[in-house]
Amino acid sequence: MDLRELYQDIILDHGRHPRNFHAMAEPSHFAHGHNPLCGDKVTVYLQLAGERIEDVSFEGRGCAISTASASLMTEILKGKTLKDAEILFGAFHANVTGGAPVAVPPELEDDSERLDLLTGVKTFPARVKCATLAWHAFEAAVHGGGLEAAAKTE
Ligand code: ZN
Repeated sequence: MDLRELYQDIILDHGRHPRNFHAMAEPSHFAHGHNPLCGDKVTVYLQLAGERIEDVSFEGRGCAISTASASLMTEILKGKTLKDAEILFGAFHANVTGGAPVAVPPELEDDSERLDLLTGVKTFPARVKCATLAWHAFEAAVHGGGLEAAAKTE
């Protein structure tokens, strides 16, 4: 199996069987994200304990890429700090948009490599917003403090 097939497999699996795909009863933070280009809609829920992400989930409707990206994101961010999340999103965002590479500390390398499975979308610029939507909603949730906030896309 080559790399391309591998990432397609993982994306398909997360797209069909998304992890942490449910609303949270009492999130400390949440935000909606909408990608009008594709029609993807996502709501990201967080349970923050100080700087630590105790729990994260999402729900919504979207294409396989947006669903797979949100699913991978929730799996990776659970238990991380907000600082870790910022680094991982920075590196992922740079990779999918072709920006300057962001250095990732050794303890986050495995997670960063898993996110890189989605960087195949960079050859399809229209799909980049699908892949980053959940992350923008995550950021909006963190900065919105529990108020409804529309996540901006790129
Ligand atoms: Zn999409």
